[in-house]
Amino acid sequence: MVVTKLKKNDEIRVIAGKDKGKTGKILKIFKETNRVLVQGINFIKKHKKPTQNDRQGGIVQEERPIHLSKVMLLCSSCKKPTRVGRKFMESGEKIRFCKMCNADL
Ligand SMILES: [Zn+2]
Repeated sequence: MVVTKLKKNDEIRVIAGKDKGKTGKILKIFKETNRVLVQGINFIKKHKKPTQNDRQGGIVQEERPIHLSKVMLLCSSCKKPTRVGRKFMESGEKIRFCKMCNADL
């Protein structure tokens, strides 16, 4: 299990796969599988059988978690995909920073 520096609600950019270049917000992190669920990314089409409430059935689109290696954090300051650094404040508080522009994240 890899400890990710990403957090829920972080803005990320997809750097590999069919959604390469797209950006989205992290909805959920799956630490066990090293995947993140990102809003609007990695949609799959699912065929839905007709049910009592939905007699039509048809095709629904659903987001699937994407592997951490395929995303990079998008810095809110320099707007570039970046690696995240960690540093300790004098207070002992751990903060994240952008390795491109050094802004706190
Ligand atoms: Zn930055």
